[in-house]
Amino acid sequence: MIIILKDGAQEKQIDELVKWLQGFDIKTNLVNGVQQRIIGLIGDTTKVDMESVQAKEIVEKVKRVQEPYKNANRRFHPDDSVIEVSGRKIGGGTLNVIAGPCSVETEEQIITTAIAVKEAGATMLRGGAFKPRTSPYAFQGLGYDGIKLLIEARKITGLPIVTEIMDLSHIDLFADVDVIQVDERNMQNFTLLKELGRSDKPILLKRGLSSTLEELLMSAEYIMAGGNQKVVFCERGIRTFEPKTRNTLDLSAVPLLKYHSHLPVVIDPSHATGIAALIEPMSLGAVAVGADALEIEVHNDPKNAWSDGAQSLTPAQFAEVMKKIKAQAEFSGRPIDEGK
Ligand code: PEP
Ligand code: MN
Repeated sequence: MIIILKDGAQEKQIDELVKWLQGFDIKTNLVNGVQQRIIGLIGDTTKVDMESVQAKEIVEKVKRVQEPYKNANRRFHPDDSVIEVSGRKIGGGTLNVIAGPCSVETEEQIITTAIAVKEAGATMLRGGAFKPRTSPYAFQGLGYDGIKLLIEARKITGLPIVTEIMDLSHIDLFADVDVIQVDERNMQNFTLLKELGRSDKPILLKRGLSSTLEELLMSAEYIMAGGNQKVVFCERGIRTFEPKTRNTLDLSAVPLLKYHSHLPVVIDPSHATGIAALIEPMSLGAVAVGADALEIEVHNDPKNAWSDGAQSLTPAQFAEVMKKIKAQAEFSGRPIDEGK
């Protein structure tokens, strides 16, 4: 961090500022230039709040030269992180495919879909029990009964289960879930993120539809600062001016997140496009640019799905798409994760 001081800054004020900065356990270097006086900060400046520095009377400008996140930063952790999920590994050279319905609806629906996606080669099962819906009148999910059905589907198929948490008060209901998903609307629910930081579960952190990658990295930092290092990013489309797709899939997020962070990256082509026919090309593109996993909505009867039917594949369509994903995964040098 570099602090440029105002012209009239008094020695006493500078001393006070330096003392305050040293309280953060960092070294300071005052440079008296011809035109300007500058303080350079040396050490871990992640805990120094830029706005608090800017608010000081003698500060003209403040600039960060280092990112404000440490745990998620590749600079401090050069090797790719590999997140273990009940026998599978997200990151580290294989591809995982998380497939299943948007919402868990009935026992028959989740079991039929789970068996079908497993047969087609999916490596994990997804399904929402607590659903973040835009309308309060839309189906809100089965709640804990949905989690119980996912557990039953896991018993039958052996697939680890991924499901989203919406409220802090539900955390105990997720004790037997393999991966806790944070939906895009909750990406900046900092109270929830802090609590997940105290958990030992892998967290699938979805990017908010209007969030920058820096904000996503900072949300991961919230979880990791609490001790939980098992965070996986998920790009699921951002809001742009284009109405033909539900969102716009930002594929550049994959190499960019990997450049800045060691954490694995998942692409969700279903929520990104909202169109079942786009899942195949976007999945292949995602694997080609380095995604560690895909999250795809599959429903045994999409036309009658209680949520997101238009973006869900039938089991037969998914089986076809999986053949191409497998081929692309081999070609990209990250074959499908076969588990233990
Ligand atoms: C979901 O995965 O079912 C979901 C609601 O996703 P998002 O938070 O990305 O909208
Ligand atoms: Mn959905």
